[in-house]
Amino acid sequence: MSLDVASVRAQFPILSRQVNGQPLVYLDNAATTQKPQAVIDALVDYYTQCNSNVHRGAHFLSDEATKRYENARATVAHYINASRNEEVIWTSGTTEGINLVANGVAQRLKPGDEVMVTEMEHHADLVTWQQACKRSGATLKIVPIHDSGELNVDAFHELLSDNTAFVAMPHVSNALGTINPIKQLTAAAKAKGALVLIDGAQGVAHGAIDVQDIGCDFYAFSGHKLFGPTGIGVLWGRYEVLNDWPVWLVGGEMIATVTYQNSTWGELPNRLEAGTPNIAGVIGLAAAIEWLSQFNAADIWAHEQALLTRATELAEQTEGLKIIGTAPNKIGVLSFVIDGSHPADIGFILDKQGVAIRTGDHCAQPLMKRLNVPGTARASFTLYNTLDEVETLFKAINKARMMLA
Ligand code: PMP
Repeated sequence: MSLDVASVRAQFPILSRQVNGQPLVYLDNAATTQKPQAVIDALVDYYTQCNSNVHRGAHFLSDEATKRYENARATVAHYINASRNEEVIWTSGTTEGINLVANGVAQRLKPGDEVMVTEMEHHADLVTWQQACKRSGATLKIVPIHDSGELNVDAFHELLSDNTAFVAMPHVSNALGTINPIKQLTAAAKAKGALVLIDGAQGVAHGAIDVQDIGCDFYAFSGHKLFGPTGIGVLWGRYEVLNDWPVWLVGGEMIATVTYQNSTWGELPNRLEAGTPNIAGVIGLAAAIEWLSQFNAADIWAHEQALLTRATELAEQTEGLKIIGTAPNKIGVLSFVIDGSHPADIGFILDKQGVAIRTGDHCAQPLMKRLNVPGTARASFTLYNTLDEVETLFKAINKARMMLA
C-alpha cells in the first residue's frame, strides 16, 4: 500500500499556513521536520495532565511522569533495536551526543592514536573530533570523497591502521544527501579495534535503524529531525562501552553516594544523565516515533525517492543549474547551485513565493571548499511533501533564474 500523503499532510497543522501570501511549501526538512498533531498533543497533555519531576517524587504525578518518561526510553530502544533500554541516553540533540562521546574518548586518546572522520562531516562531528585530537595529541585523518559526493571507500580502507582508535562518520550527509555504506565501513573499522560512532542526524528519519545490525558502538540523533520536539536527542551506545565510560556532566540524578569529599556514580543510564531532564521532550519524541511507526518504512522510502527522482529530472532540465551531490544512493536531498547566482539570493526569492529551502554551507564549510562552491541551495523532502510541491519548487527556481539573470 502506498502512502496516503493527503491524510499525512492533514496531520500537520503548520502545512496549511500561508507564507508571504502563498501556500507554504516546506522543503527544509533536513534542517528540521514539522510536527504532527499527535506530537503537539503529547506535549500539551504532558503539561496539562502530568507535569512533575521524574524519579524523585513521592507522589502520584511524579510516578506517572516517570512511567511515561521511562516508557519513552523503551520506545526509542525498540525503534533502533537497542539490546537494552539503558543503552538509550537522553541528550539535547546530535551535537551533545557526539560531544558526550568525545569527552570520554579524548580522555583515553594519546599521541600516536588516530581518529578518522570524513570530508563530508557536519561541523558537529568534525569540530568535536578536531578539538578532541588537539586536546589529546591524537592525529585527525580525513577520509576523502569523490566529486560526486560519495565517500572514497578505497581511501577509507587505506587510511585505517593499527593506530586507528576512533572512527566517526555520518550515516547520511546533510549537505549532499549521500547515504554511506556504514555497515561495511563499521565492520572494517571494528576489525582494526577502533570504536565507531555514527552521526545519525540525517539517517534516522528515512528508514528503519538497527544499531545492532550496523555494528557500531555509538549512534547519535536529534528528535527534531524525526518529527519530535527540539532540545531532545538520543545517544545510543553499547552497554559494555557506556558502562565503562567516564562521566560527563556531574550533579543530581547521576550519583550513587555523595560525601563532602567524594562521590560515586550511579548505574546506566542515570550516570550519563545529570540534572532534571527534558521530560516533555522525551515524551514528545516517543510520540513522534509512535506516530511514524504507523507507516511502512518502505512506503516512506519509495515516496521520498519518487520526489527526488522528479526533482532531479527537473533540475537536469534547468539551464545553468548544477546538482551538488550526485551519488547513486541518496535520501531526498537536492543540493544545487545556479550559474551567476548566490544561493542566498535564490533562497530569498523562493521564500517570497512561499517555498522554504535552506541555503549556505550547511554547517560543512570544509566540504563546500572541497566541492568548490560558496554554499548551495538545498531542498529536502520528507513523507508529507508532494510531487506538486516539487513542480512549485521549480517554477520558483525558474522565476529566481529570470530575476537574477
Ligand atoms: N550531523 C548532521 C549530519 C546534521 O545534519 C546535524 C543537524 N543539521 C547535526 C549533526 C547536528 O544536529 P543538532 O543541531 O540537532 O544537534
